[in-house]
Amino acid sequence: MNDVLFQGIGMTSKRTRDRLIARLKEQGIENDKVLNVVRDTPRHIFIDEALSHRAYEDTALPIGFNQTISQPYIVARMTELLLEDGPKEKVLEVGTGSGYQTAILAQLVDQVFTVERIRGLQEKARKRMQQLRLRNVMFRHTDGGMGWPDKGPFDGIMVTAAPEQVPQELLDQLSIGGVLVIPVGDGQGQVLMKIRRVDEEQYEREVLEPVRFVPLLAGVVR
Ligand code: SAH
Repeated sequence: MNDVLFQGIGMTSKRTRDRLIARLKEQGIENDKVLNVVRDTPRHIFIDEALSHRAYEDTALPIGFNQTISQPYIVARMTELLLEDGPKEKVLEVGTGSGYQTAILAQLVDQVFTVERIRGLQEKARKRMQQLRLRNVMFRHTDGGMGWPDKGPFDGIMVTAAPEQVPQELLDQLSIGGVLVIPVGDGQGQVLMKIRRVDEEQYEREVLEPVRFVPLLAGVVR
């Protein structure tokens, strides 16, 4: 592998990344597997070069098409919540965006199915997965509010754009014991929710913390 690309230099160096991990721990991230994967995943390759010196700041950054790469804290937090009740095999991600969260998931679960409504973002994310040699990711260009019914049920679903209400289709595509991590709300306010499918009919819902995501939008952009 290309050392400069993967290890980074200057503002993308190991020391800069270690500082980010220390900060995530201070903010309450506890899962060591998650922290290690965040430390070892080069976030700077998911961001335009002009902004890559800010890749290891704990902040969301623009990725074009009016979208943002999620803040490292929220990526770590959502991943930790998804894995809280045990390892996951088949995970659906709605909102591929830059592919950063996808790459984190791909190193922690067996298979990732990721959907994105903006073609241009999806194509870039696909290339980054190849660069990182992550081969357990399947991409689909679609409106992910509907999930990916052909590939379900999933034992984990992570949504990285906020709907006003939890889409029923996503609840239907959870396996028994499966976990959905999703921001819910509108421009006025959103909360992060964790929903666990207990059996055919019952879901356990936890409201965790206020968050700010771009909205989950309907339809696709070619
Ligand atoms: N996890 C991504 C977050 C990107 S922002 C990252 O860290 O880079 C959220 C993404 O969700 C955007 O790329 C947006 O285009 C996408 N999105 C919004 N609504 C969607 C929908 N209905 N189906 C699929 N993707 C959607």
